[in-house]
Amino acid sequence: MSELAIFGGKPAVTYEETGKHDGTDMFAWPIITDEDREAALDVINQGAMSGISITKEFERDFCEWTGSKYALGTCNGTAALHAAMYGVGLGRGDEIICPSVTYWASCQGAYSLGATVVFADVDPYTICLDPSKLEEKITDRTRAIMVVHYSSHPADMDPIMAIARKHNLKVIEDVSHAQGGKYKGRMLGTIGDVAAASLMSGKSFAIGEAGMLWTDDLEIYERAIALGTYERFKDGQIQTENLKPFTGLPLGGYKHRMHQVSAAMGRVQLKHYDERCAEIRRAVGYFMELIEGLPGIRGVKVDESDGSNMAGWYVPLAHYVSEELEGLSITRFCEAVSAEGCDIHPGINLPLHTHPVHKTADTYHDGKPTRIAFSDNDIRAMDENLEVSEFVAENAFYLPWFKHYRPEIIEQYANAIKKVITNYKELLTGDEGNTGPIGGWHRFNHSKKA
Ligand SMILES: *Cc1c(COP(=O)(O)O)cnc(C)c1O
Repeated sequence: MSELAIFGGKPAVTYEETGKHDGTDMFAWPIITDEDREAALDVINQGAMSGISITKEFERDFCEWTGSKYALGTCNGTAALHAAMYGVGLGRGDEIICPSVTYWASCQGAYSLGATVVFADVDPYTICLDPSKLEEKITDRTRAIMVVHYSSHPADMDPIMAIARKHNLKVIEDVSHAQGGKYKGRMLGTIGDVAAASLMSGKSFAIGEAGMLWTDDLEIYERAIALGTYERFKDGQIQTENLKPFTGLPLGGYKHRMHQVSAAMGRVQLKHYDERCAEIRRAVGYFMELIEGLPGIRGVKVDESDGSNMAGWYVPLAHYVSEELEGLSITRFCEAVSAEGCDIHPGINLPLHTHPVHKTADTYHDGKPTRIAFSDNDIRAMDENLEVSEFVAENAFYLPWFKHYRPEIIEQYANAIKKVITNYKELLTGDEGNTGPIGGWHRFNHSKKA
């Protein structure tokens, strides 16, 4: 008689979430206390909402935290990234290089600027842009590189910056998955020319719908203002010469302002952020230790041994190595682990170059795919050599994202995985393989090969 829960045995995880955000639950995020409630109420009670300067205060706090000169709050990460792309001067016919495995907002804003997205392959372990695959994607139209610190892991910035400087390219960091992380002692988001991040409820720094852009470059900052923050695009405030003729105009026509309640909550969350992340780091680190060395899986860890690198913890990831479990499918594996009470799903973000929106969609009626509306590139040729992206996206999965260091609960989750791996042979019969598409966003149900 099998012990596996998928066959009716007792699940390894007996812990149950209660759904509270007060810090008592293992997974609830963000942690909400009276301090957040009071800050939000204070905004509402002032009766002025958009008329108050709380976002500017949050930006000042954010600058202090990151050591950056300028920060600009936005309504979401998509807007912050869009503003960053405009900020570095991305425009008609330019190319921006972006890793294929990421969320679409890392690059899709480029299309409304008339630019082309060129996808580059990712490192098979970190799933961040692979510097060794970067240079082959550069052409004389390339203007910028989007770097994503994917699912907590810092991208390898030194070689990326060296390549960018050699070719005179701007570097944008998408820090949505790794706020508070470090690369060789430097804070993520302070290494490239400009950084942008989502501060949405589901992200590392979670305050509802909000985003942030930060940079030391005045021109990038002021161009970002020009695109979507018209109320600050004022005569006498803007110093960039080529923007001065346009001050007072809603130049980009977008409105990117952050919601004041989010800004108020952001100030409170920021005060506790480093401390809460340190606990996540400890909890995830312990879990990674417990699953270390098991056949079939490799937790994606950041080498923090000398203290100069640090994960900015978002959902931790693991690679799945099916050969080590006699070809057991990742689908069957995840089903069995989920039955143990540790809910996991096969796959991560679908590689963007496989999406119709980047392959065929003519969003703005240019008579050809939007991706190459202002370029004579061939999409198929551009999407060559992205094998690692295609492979890892289907052979990785998200691990539990613990918010607290509570060893006995973390051990239950590690035991769920250990139990399935120890008994994997029992799962081989009845394994139907990977039947549906793997990964992606659940609302996308098209096949990867569409
Ligand atoms: C969520 C996310 C974004 C977009 O942010 P929103 O706040 O949802 O607009 C951009 N990049 C990455 C990597 C993300 O995960």
